[in-house]
Amino acid sequence: MRNIILFGAPGAGKGTQSAIIREKFDFAYISTGEILRNEIKNGTELGKKAEEIINRGELVSDDIIVGMIKSFISANNNKDLLLDGFPRTVKQAEALDEILNSLQRGEAKVVELEVNKNVLMQRLLKRAEIEGRKDDNEQTIRERFNQYDAKTAAVAEYYKKKGGYISIDGEHGTPQEISVKLIEVLEKL
Ligand code: ADP
Repeated sequence: MRNIILFGAPGAGKGTQSAIIREKFDFAYISTGEILRNEIKNGTELGKKAEEIINRGELVSDDIIVGMIKSFISANNNKDLLLDGFPRTVKQAEALDEILNSLQRGEAKVVELEVNKNVLMQRLLKRAEIEGRKDDNEQTIRERFNQYDAKTAAVAEYYKKKGGYISIDGEHGTPQEISVKLIEVLEKL
């Protein structure tokens, strides 16, 4: 079973690319950000806990996120996995390794969408106008970048060391053109 992590900074295009490649491959797909936004919308306990954290641009606790991922993977253990927005800390990456190991699913493979920070900011501000996500305002975006630099960038290093890391240019070209490169990579993984 394949375990694909679609990795990248906020605005890199993980959600957009996930939607395109899911038309081609039969993945069990999870976006931790999307789940959290749904929890907020539905006013659940988890949503209440997560809302302020997300609106500040900070990360939700590893324990909550790992619990979520664990039940998702267990429930989809017969399928290839596409993870979007997880792991976001080295602790989450280590927990994922353990989960995959215990289910004998083999190693995770990371595909990073690489995009320059200025371009990311422009994309997110544009998305703010269209989608109105509460965490897409300049101040919160800056904090999300800070969190990325402080906690999430290390996840790429973790997989570079361990093996199973590949990056593609997520900046130049249309989403469709980028997806062609991504699909090429996925076909070899
Ligand atoms: P983006 O990649 O554009 O920042 P996401 O939708 O992936 O957006 O995540 C939105 C927010 O949800 C994050 O800023 C964070 O607060 C929370 N979140 C999502 N995934 C995780 C995770 N794996 N660990 C901790 N917090 C997370």
